[in-house]
Amino acid sequence: MSNAINTNTEVASYDYIIAGAGGAGLSLLHYLMQCSSLVTKSILIIDKSFNKTNDRTWCFWNKDFSAFENLVKNRWDTISIHAEGFDKELPTTPFSYKMIQGIDFYNSILSKAKSKSNIHFQEATIVGISVLDSLNSNKSAKVEWEGGSAIGAYVFSSLLPFQMNQLNTAAAYSNSLQSGTSSNNKAPFLWQHFKGRVVQFETPVFNKAIAKLMDFNVPQQGATAFMYQLPLNEKEALVEYTIFSENVLGISEYDKVLDTYLATAFPGINYTTTHDEIGAIPMTQIELASTQAPIYTIGALGAAIKASTGYAFQFIQEQCKNIATQLDKGLPIQTRVHNTRHQFYDAVLLHVLFYRKMEGAEIFKRIFTKNDAATVFKFLSNTSSILEDIQIMRSLPTSIFLPAAIKVLLRRA
Ligand SMILES: Cc1cc2nc3c(=O)[nH]c(=O)nc-3n(C[C@H](O)[C@H](O)[C@H](O)COP(=O)(O)OP(=O)(O)OC[C@H]3O[C@@H](n4cnc5c(N)ncnc54)[C@H](O)[C@@H]3O)c2cc1C
Repeated sequence: MSNAINTNTEVASYDYIIAGAGGAGLSLLHYLMQCSSLVTKSILIIDKSFNKTNDRTWCFWNKDFSAFENLVKNRWDTISIHAEGFDKELPTTPFSYKMIQGIDFYNSILSKAKSKSNIHFQEATIVGISVLDSLNSNKSAKVEWEGGSAIGAYVFSSLLPFQMNQLNTAAAYSNSLQSGTSSNNKAPFLWQHFKGRVVQFETPVFNKAIAKLMDFNVPQQGATAFMYQLPLNEKEALVEYTIFSENVLGISEYDKVLDTYLATAFPGINYTTTHDEIGAIPMTQIELASTQAPIYTIGALGAAIKASTGYAFQFIQEQCKNIATQLDKGLPIQTRVHNTRHQFYDAVLLHVLFYRKMEGAEIFKRIFTKNDAATVFKFLSNTSSILEDIQIMRSLPTSIFLPAAIKVLLRRA
């Protein structure tokens, strides 16, 4: 991107400033580039580095073609769930479970954006974003970095106070957030933390048609933990050890479990690791940032992550597509993507997991035993009907979930 990066230090004004060129910032840029009435708007996108790497693999499910269908590296129409004495395969029709590599997503959007004369790039670490007071009602916002600043009529920020692919910064963040809160009624905050490897075996070992969504036959770390296994072909798969808990682990602890799991599942068969990734995704309904118009938060910072699952990619797409439509039509900006009803279910499930009222393995086992994958996917995409919600709830024990629901309501009162 070097030829497109702005090195000026003077204060320039833009219609839109996108602070952070990750999953959300680039998704927003993508949808802005799609809107014919917005092609003339000046856009500045800022990130501390445009030298992108394949730092994450995005998976999600959908029925139709997504905006990034051409980037889908693999898809599965069957998932499986495993726990002690329990193995179940479920067809996902009409949904498919899909995978996009981070680097393909970054490159595809950045290369399109680079060819547009109205899109400007600034490689810098942002140190401040603030609303500028003005005499008339047209407020603007200032984005500052060392040695420079810019003014935007709208600013969309995805700058989290920690990095999701650096476990130590995530740990420091949650420690600072939770210091001083000892009450047994605190709002739940879990990390979905994981280390994954793409492994390449010498001989065929995987059933490439089945995405192993959750295999709970792994050390639970006193919380909820599972192995996630997505075969790319019969010899190659992404295998990820994932935990929902308050504290992240040391890197060697994820590796130890991955080593044992692979050695036990495929004894004596050699493999090489061609890629690895780590992450810590916040699972919470605690607001991570409060901002004021014309500054809007998007992505993980902007509450796009589903608190009970950690899935965010599809919600980020919905959020950014909505914002582009609102700008296109001159409507007020509304960034919320999770509806109140499904947010309540998320809060209850998170409460049960956080306060260890029921093992995560048991919860997911029951849900997937009594429901088809499509109903579960709809429920987890916030698109299920009330009847489908009731069906999911009937899979779970009222003696545990009703008191949890009451606690959530009391905490909100
Ligand atoms: C390894 C990993 C795998 C994931 N897999 C999935 C998945 O399979 N499915 C799913 O739904 N979700 C997944 N997620 C969760 C979520 O979809 C991603 O984290 C997504 O990237 C969030 O987008 P974002 O824009 O909010 O944050 P990011 O993508 O992290 O983007 C933030 C950007 O801001 C920049 N930045 C931060 N601070 C500054 C600063 N001060 N100045 C300038 N730039 C700054 C960063 O460099 C970065 O480019 C995953 C997350 C991780 C970490």
